[in-house]
Amino acid sequence: MSVADVAIVGAGAVGCAMARRFALEGANVILLERGTDLLSGASKANSAILHTGFDAPPGSVELQCMQAGYAEYLEIRESFNLPLLETGAMVVAWSEEERAKLDDIEAQARMNGVVDVRRLTAEEIRAREPQLSARALEALLVPGEYVIDPWSPFLGYLKQAKAHGAGIFFGTEVVSGAFDGKYWTLQTTTGVRRAKTVINCAGLFGDKLDAKLLGSASFQIKPRKGQFVVFDKPASQILSTIILPVPTERTKGVVLTRTAFGNVLVGPTAEEQDDRERATVEEDTLRGLLARAEEMVPALACVDVTAVYAGLRPATEEKSYRISVTGDRNWITVGGIRSTGLTASLGIARYVYRLYQDLGYAHTAIPDPVTPRVPNLAEHRHRDWQTAGYGEIVCHCEMVTLREIEQALAGALPAGDFGGLKRRTRCGMGRCQGFYCNAQLALLTAGCFASPLSVGDAA
Ligand SMILES: Cc1cc2nc3c(=O)[nH]c(=O)nc-3n(C[C@H](O)[C@H](O)[C@H](O)COP(=O)(O)OP(=O)(O)OC[C@H]3O[C@@H](n4cnc5c(N)ncnc54)[C@H](O)[C@@H]3O)c2cc1C
Repeated sequence: MSVADVAIVGAGAVGCAMARRFALEGANVILLERGTDLLSGASKANSAILHTGFDAPPGSVELQCMQAGYAEYLEIRESFNLPLLETGAMVVAWSEEERAKLDDIEAQARMNGVVDVRRLTAEEIRAREPQLSARALEALLVPGEYVIDPWSPFLGYLKQAKAHGAGIFFGTEVVSGAFDGKYWTLQTTTGVRRAKTVINCAGLFGDKLDAKLLGSASFQIKPRKGQFVVFDKPASQILSTIILPVPTERTKGVVLTRTAFGNVLVGPTAEEQDDRERATVEEDTLRGLLARAEEMVPALACVDVTAVYAGLRPATEEKSYRISVTGDRNWITVGGIRSTGLTASLGIARYVYRLYQDLGYAHTAIPDPVTPRVPNLAEHRHRDWQTAGYGEIVCHCEMVTLREIEQALAGALPAGDFGGLKRRTRCGMGRCQGFYCNAQLALLTAGCFASPLSVGDAA
C-alpha cells in the first residue's frame, strides 16, 4: 500500500487550505473527510467576513494567521475567480459606555498593524450609511474588512490540490489508527490509509480525534452556536458597510452585513451547547435578531426574511487557536479554529507547513501551479444566466441555470450531496427555499448522491 507524505483529516475551511498548501509545496497528500462533500462541518455556516485582524489578540498566532490568510486571499482571488465585496466595517458605539471603549479598540487595531482605521462622528456615520439609526453615537471605520463568498474559495483550493496529485476521499471517517515509529496506519470507514504525518483538521471533532489516536487531547471542544437571519435582496440596497458591535471578551457580537449573494444578514448569536452535530434555530432568538437589526437599520422592518440558519464554532475552553505538534508521533493538531477560520485558513496552512518543515521534512514546490477558476456565485459579478446557452433557469429565486447545475454535478470535484450542490450554485437558497425547484433538482440529481434529494426536502 502506498504511503502518503501527509494525511489531512477534515475538509473544512482549514483542511481544504491545508491540502492546497501541502500539494503546492510538492507533498503527496491525502485528505480524509467523513462528510459526503467538503465543508460539511463548522465551515458550511458563517458570516463570510474577511477580517483584517484589527481586534485579534496582539502577538497571537491567530492574528498572524489571519493577516497572512487575508493577504494571500487578496493575492490569489482573481486567478481563482473569487469575489470581494469591498464594504469596509464600522464598529458602532450605541451608548456612552460603548463609546468609551472605542479608544482601546482603535489602539489595538493600530498595534495589530491595521493603521487605516479612523473615527467617524455621528454625522459622518449618517453620511456613509443614511439608513443607520440616528442612535449611533460614534464609530471606528475599518476600511479593510470585506465580505467574500464563504464556500467557493475552498472548492478552488481543493481543485488545485487535486490537480497537483492530492487524493481526496469523502465519506471517509478516520475511526482509529496506529503509529509504528515511522508511518501512521489509519483505519477509516472506507478502508486503510497510510501516511508519514497526520494533520488533524477535524474541527468540531478535533479533540475526539486526538483522544482516539494519540490517547489524549490537550483541549476540549465546546461548540458555540451562532444563529442568523437572512433578509431578502432589497435589503442590500439600504446598507453597504458591515456594522459591527463593540466586541466583548467572549464574542465579536451580532453583525449586520451584506452577503456576496446579494442579501443582508444579521447574526450570529453565541450560545454554548454540547451537541456537535446539530445547530437548530429558535424562534425567540431569531425574533431577537430581527429586532436588533431593525433597531440598527429601521428600514429593514419593511424587508422580508428569506432564510434563517445556524452554525457551530469549534470553540474550546480558551480563546486561542489550539495548534500543536506531537513530534515523536508525526502528528500536528490544528484545533479550536473558532471564529476566524474563513479568513485565517490560508495563513494557518502556511504556519502549519513551517511546523512540518521543523519536523525535518522538505519537498520541492510545484514550479508553475495550475489555478482552477471556480464558477462565480457573487451577485455583483457576471452570473451564468447572463451568458447565452445556459439551457434554462432551474432556481428562479437565485437565477441558477441548468448549465451551472450540470457543471456542479460533473468535473473534478462533483457535488456529493444537496448541500454541496447548493454551495456550488446557490440553488434553493432564495425566497422559496426550494419550494419551486426541488422537484426538478430531485430529477437532475437522481443517482448522484448517496442520500437522494426528495421533492419535499427543505433546501
Ligand atoms: C456562526 C459562525 C460565524 C463565523 N463567521 C466567520 C467570519 O465571518 N469570518 C471568519 O473568518 N470566520 C468565521 N467563522 C469561523 C469559521 O467558519 C471557522 O473557523 C471554520 O469554519 C473552522 O473550520 P475547520 O476546518 O477548523 O472546521 P470544520 O469546518 O468543522 O471542518 C472539520 C471537518 O472535519 C471532518 N471530520 C471530523 N472528524 C472526522 C474524522 N474522524 N474523520 C474524517 N473527517 C472528520 C468534519 O466532517 C468537518 O468537515 C464563523 C463560524 C461560525 C460558526
